[in-house]
Order: sequence, then structure tokens, then C-alpha cells
Amino acid sequence: MIIVTNREITNEQWENLCCKLEECGFKTHVIQGVEKKVIGAVGDKRRIDFRFLENIPGVEKVIPILSPYKLVARDAKPEGTTVDVGGVKMGGGFFGVFAGPCAVENREQLLEVAYGLKKAGSGGLRGGAFKPRTSPYSFQGLEEEGLKLLAEARAKTGLPIITELMNLTELDLVNEYTDIIQIGARNMQNFGLLRAVGRQSKPVLLKRGLAATVEEWLMAAEYIMSEGNSQVILCERGIRTFETATRNTLDLSAVALAKSFSHLPVVVDPSHGTGKRRLVLPMAKAAVVAGADGLLIEVHPDPANALSDGEQSLDLPEFEKLMVQINELVKLEGKKIN
Ligand code: PEP
Ligand code: MN
Repeated sequence: MIIVTNREITNEQWENLCCKLEECGFKTHVIQGVEKKVIGAVGDKRRIDFRFLENIPGVEKVIPILSPYKLVARDAKPEGTTVDVGGVKMGGGFFGVFAGPCAVENREQLLEVAYGLKKAGSGGLRGGAFKPRTSPYSFQGLEEEGLKLLAEARAKTGLPIITELMNLTELDLVNEYTDIIQIGARNMQNFGLLRAVGRQSKPVLLKRGLAATVEEWLMAAEYIMSEGNSQVILCERGIRTFETATRNTLDLSAVALAKSFSHLPVVVDPSHGTGKRRLVLPMAKAAVVAGADGLLIEVHPDPANALSDGEQSLDLPEFEKLMVQINELVKLEGKKIN
């Protein structure tokens, strides 16, 4: 890292700074400028929170060179990670699709969509049993009843399931039923929850927060990995911007970027990313070409009457069409859809 000192730094402050750097195990190289002194500090700053150096008197700013995450960094596993979710692989040349309703509403709805998804070639089934809704008066999900229905749909179709965990108190319950735990956008920086899912062995799909930078997203993944769970999938689901024509702004450049910074698989959720049914197919196709390792798509047998996110849900014929088109693109990318 580069440490720029301010013009008024005293000899005493300079000595103190050099001592601190040495204590932290850095080798220092001093560059004497006309007005200021700059220190090039060589060592692994990822072991410390380098920002504390900015509080040392005489320091103007600290410019990091290495990323603050280490387990998540591509350098830690240049060949890339493959995560296997109940037989559906993502990453390392494999492409997986998980589709299904925003929320599990009832048995009929879930089984109808699950059979249709299976027929269309979806790898797995998504469905929320605990829903993070903006209003406390909106449908909050069927909770354990929803988890049981998901397990029934899996038993009948063979599709592995993904469902969201919202609270630490529900970890064991959700874990009993799901094949992969989804951490939603709103919980991306719920560090206690991240650590807890890091301590259990099921894979985790980590959605990018509504206003999270790529670095914050990767640091959230680092929390999970630092507890021992390396089965993490990153999910880009759109971020908040000034644009209101779409529900969120789907940041596809973040997909290519995250793939270059990290060895973890990256999947895209074009449903929440756009909030608009007619944009789901084009953005799903764009995601494949941007390097995504999978997709998370909302599908409802009757979107007009969905209890949540109907406006961004595909119906089954639309999903079948998406699968046909995605298949071709995935092949062109040299990946295997499963
Ligand atoms: C969801 O997948 O249904 C969901 C609530 O997603 P997000 O956390 O991305 O809003
Ligand atoms: Mn939804």
C-alpha cells in the first residue's frame, strides 16, 4: 500500500508511523517528494484493517494495492470453484438454472409450477417461505408450511430447492429442508447471519445488497468463507440507482468484474434486477454472455394473481422459451447446462 503523509508531519509523528508499520510486519520504502513524503509499505495488509493507519497523526491517506478479501480472491483458487447444489453444478464450466415463484403460496401453485419447470429443463426450484417484504402488511410467506411444500415438490420432481433464510433463529429449520440457503439482498451485511451460514455445511447463495459495492459484496462472501464454508455462490440482483424505469439497475458489469476478482460462481437474477417481465429474457441472455454461471428466475403459473412479484414473474410458456434460448448461448460460451 501507499501511505501519503501530510505536509505538516512532525519528526515524532514520522517515527511513530514507521514504528507502527514495522510492528505490523511491513517493509517500508520512503519516497521523498518536494512537499510530502510518501511511504511504499510492502507486506500483506489483508491481515490488518489498513484504515486504522489513516487515524495516525501525520497520515493524509492510505491507498491499498491488494484487495481486502483473501479466501474469496481469484488468486486463492485460479481454476474457479464449482458448487454442487443437490446435483446441479454452478461454476467451473457448469451453468445452473433455479426457477420458481417469488413465494410459495399453496400446494397447487407450487406443484403446478414445479412440474412445468422440470419439463422445461430447469435445474432446480426456487421459492420463498420467509419473505422480506417492504410492508409488514404484505404476504410474509407460509413459513414452515412453505418449506414442507418445497420438500414435497422436490420429492415429486427431483428438483433441488433454494429458499431464503432471513433470521438466525430459523437457521436449523430452513437447513432441515433446503439444498442451498439464500441470503437475500437486505441481509447481505447481516454479519451474524453470514457467520452462522459459514459455520454450517450447506451451500449459500449470497445476493448483492441493494446499495452494496462489489467490494462489500465480496467481503460479505469472505465472512461466510472465513467460518469454513467454501460453497458460496454470488448473485447479482440489481442495485438502486437514480433510474426508476426499472425496479433496480441490473449491473452486468459487476458479473464480469466479480468473476475476475473471485473464483466463486456468479449467478444473475434478472427478475429482481429489472422488475419487469418483458426484460427478463433479454437480460437473462445478456447475463450468460457476461459470464454468469447460472440464473435465478421467478416463474409463476398465473403471474397476474401472484401474491408477490407477479409483474416480474414469467409464466411457464415464457420460461420454456427462455430455456431454449439460454441453452444455445450457454453452449456458445463453452459451458455445460445442468
Ligand atoms: C427473492 O429472491 O425473492 C428476493 C426477495 O430477492 P432479493 O433479496 O434479491 O430482493
Ligand atoms: Mn421476489
